[in-house]
Amino acid sequence: MNDSDKPLSAARPPEGAQAPLGGSATHAVASAGAPLLPGSTLGVLGGGQLGRMFVHQAQAMGYFTAVLDADPTSPAGLVSHHHIQTGYEDPKGLAELARLSDAVTTEFENVPAAALATLAALRPVSPAASAVAVAQDRAQEKAHFVACGVPCAPYAVIETAAQLAAVAPDLLPGILKTARMGYDGKGQVRVKTAAELAAAWASVGSVPCVLEKMLPLALECSVIVARGADGATVHLPVQRNLHRDGILAVTEVYEQNLPQALTQQAVAAAVSIANGLRYVGVLCVEFFVLQDGSLVVNEIAPRPHNSGHYSQNACDVSQFELQVRTMAGLPLVQPRQHSAAVMLNLLGDLWFAQGDAEQTPPWAAVLALPGAHLHLYGKREAKRGRKMGHLNITAATPETARATALKAATLLGIAPF
Ligand code: ATP
Ligand code: MG
Repeated sequence: MNDSDKPLSAARPPEGAQAPLGGSATHAVASAGAPLLPGSTLGVLGGGQLGRMFVHQAQAMGYFTAVLDADPTSPAGLVSHHHIQTGYEDPKGLAELARLSDAVTTEFENVPAAALATLAALRPVSPAASAVAVAQDRAQEKAHFVACGVPCAPYAVIETAAQLAAVAPDLLPGILKTARMGYDGKGQVRVKTAAELAAAWASVGSVPCVLEKMLPLALECSVIVARGADGATVHLPVQRNLHRDGILAVTEVYEQNLPQALTQQAVAAAVSIANGLRYVGVLCVEFFVLQDGSLVVNEIAPRPHNSGHYSQNACDVSQFELQVRTMAGLPLVQPRQHSAAVMLNLLGDLWFAQGDAEQTPPWAAVLALPGAHLHLYGKREAKRGRKMGHLNITAATPETARATALKAATLLGIAPF
């Protein structure tokens, strides 16, 4: 009998590992209403930085962890008790993840729906495949926003040449986005005319797309909501986000980063989107604030989000602890932000000097700044545009947090904001 044939109840911590005090060596299968306590094993699909920070948090709380990711050097795989090195569609890998884990979550929305369904037959999976499927597909996502009564950008679904020809002219200028697999602005083409739109659709291989009207943005913000299996929700404060080249660059979170009426509206919209999905887990909802002050939902991510990283150092409960709590069925308490925060994303560009010579960013100087918290993801190779880490700056006041963050940006070669 190979490992994947072992009975599910035989899940154990790795050899030589000590179960934390109060934990048991043999894992209980989660039953409705009974939380999975420390000593259980939490599994995650995907080995990227979000998985790594989830693993760190789960381990800090006394859980064992299992990561499924084919890359032997994946950021989360490197730090997890168990690392199953297979693709998301490998039945043996999925069976092994289920065997090892008492509950499973995902750090990546583009996992095949079939993988989540396979796991869900064996173990509690959160968020559910049905909710992840909505987040995976911009057309379904937008239909969900409409159903929840939350305004989104005017759009058209383009799956056929006939739909392309029928696009209303007032959607232009617009952004053509592939319905699936987009991230960090990839799979997007800005178009001004019907001819450009047709060329853009051809350039992405005529795959299903959504054309969104280009909106006059004043700013962007996002909200992290956590929802338990009992329907209880808590949220982090509303994050104000600055994107550069389609990639998040800076997040600022403190009193008055946004008008209060807007933050209340954003939280209410995020909660209704989570409720509408009967969501269990951590959900990020991204919004646009238009120049007329109105709020428009952009997209959702069925997992912790880059814009929520400040919570690791500025809140008493981080987005990763919320992920652990929701999947383990532990109580959700409303997080409290105790420090003003600015997060700077550290992209691979910082590892290159002018003329493409490699360099090490000036960590010692950055860490000499009060309130600087460095998070690096353990990626072996820096590439331009690649997320290598982030720097959280915390302070007693927004002014100090901003001033310190601007000093850090200068040291690192990040443009001021
Ligand atoms: P990520 O996954 O990193 O959040 P993404 O690839 O899913 O990004 P979007 O969030 O759809 O991409 O868009 C990336 C950025 O492009 C937005 O944050 C915003 O700055 C800009 N953008 C997207 N859609 C519009 C729009 N309809 N009008 C104006 N700007 C837009
Ligand atoms: Mg986005």
